[in-house]
Amino acid sequence: MKRLMMLGPPGAGKGTQAQQLVEAFQIPQISTGDLLRAAKRDGTDLGKLAAPYMDNGRLVPDELVIGMVKERIALPDAKNGYIFDGFPRTRNQSEALDEMGIALDHVISIDVSEPELIRRLEGRRSCKECKAVYHLVFAAPKVAGTCDRCGSSPLLQRPDDMPVKIKQRLVEYAEETEPLIDFYGEKGLLIQIDGEGDPKEVKKRIQSALGT
Ligand code: AMP
Repeated sequence: MKRLMMLGPPGAGKGTQAQQLVEAFQIPQISTGDLLRAAKRDGTDLGKLAAPYMDNGRLVPDELVIGMVKERIALPDAKNGYIFDGFPRTRNQSEALDEMGIALDHVISIDVSEPELIRRLEGRRSCKECKAVYHLVFAAPKVAGTCDRCGSSPLLQRPDDMPVKIKQRLVEYAEETEPLIDFYGEKGLLIQIDGEGDPKEVKKRIQSALGT
């Protein structure tokens, strides 16, 4: 059983690096952002409740996110563990994990400067079909606007990656999520990783820290 968590501001590369760990550990990535976007797209009750928060770069209320995570980790593919990506994001959410009797093995905190985060988020585009993520400058698709992996087009910008929403998400991160760095540091679970530079280098830093 392996339970990992990726912690860091929006644009730090949590999702990208979590995907690398999926292969290394053969456990699923559980991204609350992806689950919420799917709920919104499918028009579920949860999606309808979450949408206004997400579209404004605000955190979705804890009870909605916690309920969704409980259901997700009960699925069979999570029986040997998982990599949380974007959860927990508040003290309440981390306490909910404790109450469920779930102990994380490692919390991987990815550190990236604010100007770099903004550059990354503003240029981020993703494929609506297969969810592959690109960057207009740093990781452009071979054919502009078309997904290399599945050929779908156009590539889309997330509504919350618009500049004013980015600011709001960074404020939410600083107020609600950043305090978790100290919280998990005190528990002795924290692995701090420099998230700047080539994603392949960041991957190596994480692997060497985890001893994989
Ligand atoms: P992300 O893809 O992780 O950047 O998440 C996108 C949006 O989904 C966030 O800006 C929040 O509105 C919402 N969200 C994702 N994870 C959480 C969470 N753990 N708690 C509250 N809201 C979340």
